[in-house]
Amino acid sequence: MKVAAVIVAAGRGRRMGGPVPKQYQRIAGQMVLRRTLDAALACPRITTVLTAITEDCRSLYEEATLGLDDTRLASPVPGGAERADTVRLALEALADAGPDIVLVHDAARPFASPTLWEALIDAASGTEGAIAAEPVVDALWAEGTGAAAPMGCCDEPRPRAGLWRAQTPQAFPYAALLAAHRTEATSEAPSALDDAEVFRRAGGTVRLVPGEPDNFKITTPADLARAERLVAEKEPPMDVRTGHGFDVHRFGPGDHVMLCGVAVPHSHGLVGHSDADVGLHALADAIYGALAEGDIGTHFPPSDPQWKGAESHVFLAHAGARVAARGGRISNLDVTLLCERPKIGPHSAAMRTEIGRILGLDPGRIGLKATTMERMGFIGREEGMGCIATATVILPASTGSDAE
Ligand code: MG
Repeated sequence: MKVAAVIVAAGRGRRMGGPVPKQYQRIAGQMVLRRTLDAALACPRITTVLTAITEDCRSLYEEATLGLDDTRLASPVPGGAERADTVRLALEALADAGPDIVLVHDAARPFASPTLWEALIDAASGTEGAIAAEPVVDALWAEGTGAAAPMGCCDEPRPRAGLWRAQTPQAFPYAALLAAHRTEATSEAPSALDDAEVFRRAGGTVRLVPGEPDNFKITTPADLARAERLVAEKEPPMDVRTGHGFDVHRFGPGDHVMLCGVAVPHSHGLVGHSDADVGLHALADAIYGALAEGDIGTHFPPSDPQWKGAESHVFLAHAGARVAARGGRISNLDVTLLCERPKIGPHSAAMRTEIGRILGLDPGRIGLKATTMERMGFIGREEGMGCIATATVILPASTGSDAE
């Protein structure tokens, strides 16, 4: 049986200068969406995972999925104007995958357990749909309108018996949900609350499957704080490691130097087997060092002609992917470039942005500075330049002692 999961990460886009949408914010250093994707992919019965995104969040999606090497993860699709449009477009995109069952899930609910995903797949294995939901346990009060009770005060209690609060995942037979959404798209009815309503409007039955208190939707800063606490409780103790890297390259002919992924105009170039980016080389070695996994030369032998002239972001991205493969994350990086010239200050923001882009790391976790050598030594004589870098990497304690 084929089972697809549609992760709904589309919604309000990232307006210029606006806040990062909740699904792309970080909990203990990892994006909410990444945690949601990892949770879905942890369910072995799910054969395809497709994310619907807002187009202007594509680079954030790429950051979220950096190093996520799972063939079940499909390329993301752009969402639509309303949530129902987004789900319909994602369902249409799954036509080739041809799933029997589809689970629709909010990107901002990262804590649905494997048991819950399984329960929904089982519940939707016939002709019915199923949603995760929790019974309402709080007393429900209608607010006064000014007649019997003032506004801002309790008016009438409302019965809560039989009321459930919907969560996601919501699971449905794929073909029936797609047909229901196609009909919904041509209907004049007010927007449906969720997929359960779309499915029911088409005549389907939707079962209530007990949800989970931790499967809350992250919408407010308080929810993010709650998520941080939950992760701190659930995640195993961490193994914090530091690595350092050092690199030098000789100046040669040229009109620019590549430093931390940025082309900086200069009277000389740097000579090397690759693009001679001392910054990215020292950084990659710092990360490999923290992992105790050798250095750039171990992974990209200079004797191998395929790395001649290579762009050094390849090395750094590889080092970052090794951290992800070990289940870890980079806590921070610090880089000191050593040269008399060119001036680094005007380029340092671009360099931090570039390093952050390559590694999917917030530039706030990347230090970058430069020093001259007071005209002493080979750097002082401008024969070449150097770089020193450190990396702090956090690995799960359980894998702390062994490389894969
Ligand atoms: Mg080098």
